[in-house]
Amino acid sequence: MSELKNPTDIARETLRRLTVRHLPPTPANYQACYNEIANLPNIPQFPDASLRQLASSLVAHNKRQESQLDLLGAAIGQRSWQGVTDALIGFAQGGASEAPAPASTAVPTVLPPASALALARFIEALLPSFGSDNPRALAMAADLVTMLKQPQVEIVAIQAALGTLTHHVRSVLEEQLEVRDSLLALLHLLIENVGELSEDDRWLKGQIDGLLASITPPLTLRHLDEMERRMRDVIEKQARAKVRSVAAQQELRHMLAEFVESLALINQSSSEFEAKIEESARNIEKVTSADELKVLLDGVLSATHAMVEESASSRTQLKSLQTKVEATEAELLQLHQELDSASALARHDPLTDALNRKGLDEALLREISSMRRKETPLSVSLLDIDNFKKLNDSLGHDVGDGALIHLADVARRHIRPSDTLARYGGEEFVILMPDTVLGDGIEVITRLQRELTKAIFMAGSDRVLITFSAGVAQVEPEESGGDALRRADQAMYLAKRAGKNRVMGG
Ligand code: GH3
Ligand code: MG
Ligand code: MG
Repeated sequence: MSELKNPTDIARETLRRLTVRHLPPTPANYQACYNEIANLPNIPQFPDASLRQLASSLVAHNKRQESQLDLLGAAIGQRSWQGVTDALIGFAQGGASEAPAPASTAVPTVLPPASALALARFIEALLPSFGSDNPRALAMAADLVTMLKQPQVEIVAIQAALGTLTHHVRSVLEEQLEVRDSLLALLHLLIENVGELSEDDRWLKGQIDGLLASITPPLTLRHLDEMERRMRDVIEKQARAKVRSVAAQQELRHMLAEFVESLALINQSSSEFEAKIEESARNIEKVTSADELKVLLDGVLSATHAMVEESASSRTQLKSLQTKVEATEAELLQLHQELDSASALARHDPLTDALNRKGLDEALLREISSMRRKETPLSVSLLDIDNFKKLNDSLGHDVGDGALIHLADVARRHIRPSDTLARYGGEEFVILMPDTVLGDGIEVITRLQRELTKAIFMAGSDRVLITFSAGVAQVEPEESGGDALRRADQAMYLAKRAGKNRVMGG
């Protein structure tokens, strides 16, 4: 009925209506009339002021309480007892918690069986890492596992046991880390010492350097694995070279003995020859007839023949001995050369020290089987230097070699330790990126491209900008390494076609 909103207007209208209705201006009459005009329920003596004071003394501690306070204000304004009651209850519950638990839920005292079993399995999986020389921690963990496998597991008991076990595990792990560091330090010392002692043994050099690098943290199974294979290679070749060189020495010794024997024979025959000649010289004086002289000369001739034959055969023998020695020398030299390369380079490219094709094939097999076992992604990338022929032609092959070394160095500095760098061919490199999906792989190679642009390559006083084009492919679960590399190669080819110095996904 009334559109009045302003309290002053309502008050004026109230007085007018009291007069019109001839009502005495008592507070109750005034109130009733006011409520009627303001369209408010006529609740006698609604304590607005006291409620507002109450509302203003309440402090909200969270959003829920804040909104309940707003509702309270509105309910007071509307003189709604129900509204005031609801808002106050809401305010009180909102203070208990952000999301009050249903009143019926009791705090659990027993661990849910599935959680207990999962915890038991987790602790069992941890056991091997304690090692065998920590019987106390092992027994404690075993007790806890037994407890967890019982039907009703008290949370309080488990919490206490877990607390103690955690304390022990921490100290066991700290000790293991210290042991590992000390062992590594010892190993370093030992290897360095072996290196010092055998400075002139060039086959050891490659192994020593590799060993030192592979036991320098961060230790990765990949590096240790690779080093083990390198060493096996060398040990095998060394053993073969040793067997062969012992056999060759024996052969030579045998031949030398034979030769000395025949020298003695020559010596003997030449003494006999001398005696024969002397005797013939003496007999010449006594010769009286031509017949006697003929007999004498025949004797001298046959002795000379025998002597000539003896020396011819010993010359042949000497010649064959010489040939044999040369052949054995060549064979030993080749064995040593093989050993040289096996000691450091069998799986590595000697120029850049990146893996060679053989090393890449092995690494790729290993990464693919790890990818399948762990169900993690693996990406491969193929990089080809742009316009490398021109660089070789204009600045020379040595500068070209330097550029290859530079690229390999920059790549090694910017890939993760778990990534693998290999030289695929002349000016082509492959990077294997485990735990990397295609998009991330493209990002890694693009970043490498930027880094290569920043790391200026100097050829004498010339600054040479090296760029590459690359293709990246994520290995499919059932795909072979060769097929994935072919896809990366096709993507690289597209990158070349699109103008070079770019990375494309395959
Ligand atoms: P593109 O941008 O299309 O890849 O052209 P490119 O000139 O890089 O490619 P191309 O395949 O025509 O030439 C590759 C050159 O790489 C030819 C070869 O002489 C050179 N090369 C290969 N291996 C080596 C090496 O070990 N050292 C040096 N200095 N050059 C090498
Ligand atoms: Mg090429
Ligand atoms: Mg090229």
